[in-house]
Amino acid sequence: MSKTIFEYSTRGRMGVTLPKRELEIPLEDMFGAEQLRANPIRLPEVSELDVMRHYIMLSHKNHFIEKGLYPLGSCTMKYNPKLHESLVRHTCFANLHPYQHEDTLQGALELLYELQQDLAEISGMAQVTLQPVAGAQGEFAGIKIIAAYHHAKGNNHKTKIIIPDSAHGTNPATCHLVGFEVVELKSNPDGRCDINTLRGLVDENTAGFMLTNPNTLGLFENQIEEIAEIMHSVDALVYMDGANLNALMGIVQPGKIGFDVMHFNLHKTFSTPHGGGGPGCGPVGVVEKLVPYLPVPMIAKNDSGYYLDYSNQVTSIGKVHTYYGNFAIQVRAYIYIKMLGALGLRRVSENAILNANYLMKLLKPYYHIQHEEYCMHEFVMDGTKQKKEQGISTLDIAKRLLDKGYHAPTIYFPLIIPEAMMVEPTETESIDSMNAFAEAMIEIARECKDTPDMLHEAPLCTPVRRVDDVRAVKVLDPIFQIQD
Ligand SMILES: *Cc1c(COP(=O)(O)O)cnc(C)c1O
Repeated sequence: MSKTIFEYSTRGRMGVTLPKRELEIPLEDMFGAEQLRANPIRLPEVSELDVMRHYIMLSHKNHFIEKGLYPLGSCTMKYNPKLHESLVRHTCFANLHPYQHEDTLQGALELLYELQQDLAEISGMAQVTLQPVAGAQGEFAGIKIIAAYHHAKGNNHKTKIIIPDSAHGTNPATCHLVGFEVVELKSNPDGRCDINTLRGLVDENTAGFMLTNPNTLGLFENQIEEIAEIMHSVDALVYMDGANLNALMGIVQPGKIGFDVMHFNLHKTFSTPHGGGGPGCGPVGVVEKLVPYLPVPMIAKNDSGYYLDYSNQVTSIGKVHTYYGNFAIQVRAYIYIKMLGALGLRRVSENAILNANYLMKLLKPYYHIQHEEYCMHEFVMDGTKQKKEQGISTLDIAKRLLDKGYHAPTIYFPLIIPEAMMVEPTETESIDSMNAFAEAMIEIARECKDTPDMLHEAPLCTPVRRVDDVRAVKVLDPIFQIQD
């Protein structure tokens, strides 16, 4: 177990010297005497170097993209250029305040306006709001918009949303939260929506259909136009979960093939490092007939410049976040799009697809792959062969991968593939790093045969060995408690 920063503490040691200043207003007057501490808080007394070494040492125990490949399917853990990080910290952006008058924010508003336009172009949607701050919140806003559309038409009997069994878990959760009933659609044997079953599920009470595309098996749902036709015939709307846009940029415009609403995850595809729960940005794009229901304000432009547009106020679903949403993430996405340009974005998607297919082909002789046709930006293999032959689970394989310096793929998801391992190499990996990853996976396949007992013990070389996940959730054991 590593030391806590408190264990480095030496009485009197300091990292910084603060200037001595008399307060103009005594603290007692400012906050009231009863708010002040009776005794000084116990803080670690450490030098700057102590602090640096402590955190660098901790960071090395962690996994991050700069350390090694991060093949976490559905999450797009790609490398994001450091240039964007330095630009977004520029005082021009960092010193703005959301309460400033829009006359003094013209540059920022122009940036947001253009980002709205660019995302609308990428998605083929009429308009895009940047307000939601997570993929799941984008879904919430999008499904609220569907509800508002039906409500405005007086169609309050439309209470059901159909979702395939391969959906991301947030999809049914979102529909429940908005108040819809979820109807599950089984996938057909080739891993896509079963159109005939779908026809049987649709009726006058259907409000919408929510689809992840490419789906969580890494397959493109190729029957969108037919699905949209079935839905639109009963005035139901089609939602696309576009969290993983890495395979579609410059290739498919969802708004042009029958989708009515979609969300993006800027923190997956558009250059925001993520993980650890945020912050994020989940813009939502809609077709023309749904524009009146978008959250307010939108960023708009007239002859005198850019402004916050509240003209939808009456029909809008309202605000879903304070101010402008997560501005710094929007700035990164803007830079990413402008740096790459239209052709660059297309190449990102082409390379993401190429890399996933390349890796899938390398691993196919060693791991079972249920849907082994051409995949999109990710693919799903599984550990059923190892389970059957050596009694080794996907969890064992994933843990062993940690020993080899990699993050594990997404495992046991999608739920419809037993012992699933969902791999997304992303376009930022070179052929060498994919070869090295494949070599590690192949070595593990060999170890499964030669030293199966060792696999059950893995990981052997990590700072923390295999944890009891269930116990960790139930028995919270804080490493240390700060004493007053
Ligand atoms: C990541 C993801 C989400 C949720 O996004 P959050 O920002 O984590 O809320 C939704 N759908 C799909 C397909 C995803 O991959």
